[in-house]
This record gives sequence, structure tokens and C-alpha cells, in this order.
Amino acid sequence: MAIQEKNYWLETVTIPSADPSKSLPDSVDVAVIGSGVTGLSAARALAKRGMRVAVLEAETFGWGASSRNGGMVLTGMKLPVPTLISRYGREAVQRMYAASVASIDCVEQIVREEKIDCNFARCGHLEVACKQAHFDGYAESAARIAREFDHKLRIVPKSELRSEIGSDIYYGGLVDEVSAGLNPARYVAGLVAAAQRAGAALFDHTRVDGVQRERGNGGQKFRVHTPKGALVAREVILASGAYTTTASPALRKKLIPIGSYIIATEVLSDDLARELSPKNRMIYDSKHFLYYYRLTPDRRMLFGGRAAFFPETENTVRRSAEILRRGMIGVYPQLRDTKVEFVWGGTLDFAFDVIPHTGQIDGMYYSVGYAGHGVAIGTYLGTKISDLICGEPNDLPFDGIPFRNPPIGLRSGHTWALPLAGVYYKFLDWVS
Ligand SMILES: Cc1cc2nc3c(=O)[nH]c(=O)nc-3n(C[C@H](O)[C@H](O)[C@H](O)COP(=O)(O)OP(=O)(O)OC[C@H]3O[C@@H](n4cnc5c(N)ncnc54)[C@H](O)[C@@H]3O)c2cc1C
Repeated sequence: MAIQEKNYWLETVTIPSADPSKSLPDSVDVAVIGSGVTGLSAARALAKRGMRVAVLEAETFGWGASSRNGGMVLTGMKLPVPTLISRYGREAVQRMYAASVASIDCVEQIVREEKIDCNFARCGHLEVACKQAHFDGYAESAARIAREFDHKLRIVPKSELRSEIGSDIYYGGLVDEVSAGLNPARYVAGLVAAAQRAGAALFDHTRVDGVQRERGNGGQKFRVHTPKGALVAREVILASGAYTTTASPALRKKLIPIGSYIIATEVLSDDLARELSPKNRMIYDSKHFLYYYRLTPDRRMLFGGRAAFFPETENTVRRSAEILRRGMIGVYPQLRDTKVEFVWGGTLDFAFDVIPHTGQIDGMYYSVGYAGHGVAIGTYLGTKISDLICGEPNDLPFDGIPFRNPPIGLRSGHTWALPLAGVYYKFLDWVS
């Protein structure tokens, strides 16, 4: 079979669609822009508390990163803990890390409560060391995470690595048993159904073109404009991730959109699948320009990476297939003759300081900047923002942190300098 340029996960589920005859309500308590994990988890939680909620999605539900990702439900943060502590202080980072661990429970609880059939499993994640120096750092890193966050990671020396992965190219590994895996498209489909059951009104193919803030005697409100008409909302949540448009220009300016690409092979035999990933872990390597990979529930090897830095286009997707296939064979020579059946891409939302950010901008709530680590934390922060809107105290660890605009050349809409960033990170991988 020739490679299909489409998202494999969408072959496993039909994403629900909205009734096209349903018109927008005149007013709601909360309008949510975007129907990924952030927007849908917020909508579900708000509707469960009796709020009138409308979710407005430009494309199909979950069309953005949420249905295209690797399905890795991961603890931890992108940056090393010492960097985080030196920037934000010990107490703040302890709260961030605790949120990352709680976010896995949050996903599990929603999956269980809503009976979402998405192959959620606490299979753990494995980081593999690409250099001896990276492995040498694992002992200190695990000790620090145990000390600072009371969270246990297990070091796997090279001599035992075959119990975790059917590859000999790495110098050892680090396992976190708390992380999980799921089928992201099925998860999104389940969240859509859950939000609808709770009473939220969901609209697909409804792009928000602009939001006008109005202040009157009754306090502030927002007029949200779409081609299907406008609605008035007391609050707005910007849950548009890397796909944020000029409808919210101030937020868009803060985001660095980076492409990430995935291939999926044909279905592997039971024996081969077990050899490649005996414990069915979510795996990623220790480089900046990293590869991430896992088995799918039907035993395909799903292998992803930043094959191109630019957000996805037909061209970058096509070129990525061969780059990723070579990367996959580098890790698993056993897959040399295995057919790659699917390739697709998506866009990651990075903040300049590579941590998530939540807060308010132009009076609207937002939660963005997950940097390829958003399935769990996006679900958690979406849910938490709904608590905030319902009047609960603000305990969001990513709120109130300065959220700087990245330099022009990296921001959404002006990404001409992204290839330079790619070269810089490749250089870092070479020297460190
Ligand atoms: C290829 C790839 C692999 C990844 N792998 C993993 C992984 O394994 N584990 C992990 O934790 N994370 C992973 N991520 C990251 C993760 O998928 C994202 O962080 C997360 O899905 C972001 O969710 P979100 O709800 O914030 O945004 P999205 O899911 O991107 O949703 C935003 C939505 O907003 C809509 N929208 C934007 N503007 C408007 C507008 N004006 N009007 C209406 N709608 C609008 C878009 O159409 C889009 O559907 C990966 C991402 C990619 C691209």
C-alpha cells in the first residue's frame, strides 16, 4: 500500500459532528474558542456546573493537535528541573510538577467517568539516553525529582535496556510508571460526547473572526463574531493552541508554532511488537530534536519527530515520511522492510520560555504553550480554568508568570526564522 498522507488515528473513530441546522445561541455564560483537549475539558466541566457554554471550532471537532498527537499522557515538563527552579523558584516549580502528575489522574478520571473508549493505559514512559553523558545525568535527575517532588523514576542501565526496548543504540533509560498512553482521536471524540451530554452546545465549522470587548452597567461582556452570526458571552476561553488566529491577535503574537510529524507502519506481528516495546511504553529520546514513538493498540509502530521545523504543509508532510522512516530504522533495524502506511503532521504551541501559560489577555482566559506535552496538562488546565470561572480560588501554577512575546521571526504568522532555531537545536544536540 502506498503511504497515505493522513492521520492514522482518524481511521479508528468517527469524530462526532454538530447538527448543521442548529443556530448559535444569542448569549451564553462562556464561549470557548477551539475544541481540542483544553476547550472540550473546560466546556465539559463548566456545563456540569450548570453554565451555559458554547464551543466554537473552525474545523471539525478536535481538528488541531488534539486528534493528531502521539497519545502520550506524560508527567513532567519539557525543561530540566534546575533550569525551572532557577527561573521560577522552588515552590512554584513544585506546584508545576505536582500539576503535571495530577493531570494524568485528571485524564484517567474523565476517561473513567465518561466511559471513553480510547485505550487509556498506565503503561509508563521511557526516556532513552542518546549519549553516555545524558545517561550519566539520569541519576542526579531522578534523585532531584524524588527530593523536590516526592516522585519516583527508575533508572535502567544499558545492560537491562532490552527489557524495555528492542534497540541497542541507547546508553540507558529512565522510566516513569505514572505516565499513560491513549488513542487521541478516540479521546477527543469521547470528550465531545461528554461535553454535549453535560449540556454544552458545540459548533464545528464555525470560525471565530473576532471578539469585541464591551463594558456596560452589567460589567464586561464579549461579542464573539463568526460567519454564522455573533453571540454574546460573559467570559471567553481561548483554547486555540498553536492554531490561534488573528481573532485573538495579542495571544497569537506570543506563540511559536512548530511542526511535528508522525509515521505509522503496517500492523506488526505480535512477536515483533513485543520485541520492539516489551512493556508497551511511551518512548522518547534525550535529544532536543527528539524522536518519540510507541506501539498503537493495533500494533503499528508510531514514530514521530520534528522532521521539519515549519508547521505542516503538504510538502513538509511528504518529506517527513522518508526522514522519519530513516530515523525509525536507525532505532529499530528490525523495521527495515516494514511498510510505512501513514504520515501526517501537526503544529505544537511553544511559548518563548517553553512552559505552559494560563491567565487572561484582553479580558479573556487562555491556556497555551504546552510544547508537545499537552494531552494531560491541557485537559487539566482546561478543567482548572472552569473552576476559576466558577469562582474557585486561583491555584493555577502557570498563571501570573511573565509571558513574553518571542522575537519576530519565530511568532505565529511570521515564522521565517524557525529554520535557524532548528539548526541551533541540532547544533546543541551535536555538542551536548
Ligand atoms: C504531531 C503532534 C504530536 C504530539 N504528541 C503529543 C504527545 O504524544 N503527548 C502530548 O502530551 N502532547 C502531544 N502533542 C501536543 C498536544 O497534542 C497539544 O499540546 C494539545 O493537543 C493542545 O490542545 P489544545 O486543545 O490546546 O489545542 P488544539 O488541539 O490544537 O485545538 C485548538 C483548536 O482551536 C481551533 N481554532 C483556532 N482558532 C480558532 C478560531 N478563530 N475559531 C474557531 N476555532 C479555532 C483549531 O481549529 C483547533 O482545532 C503533539 C502535538 C502534535 C502536533
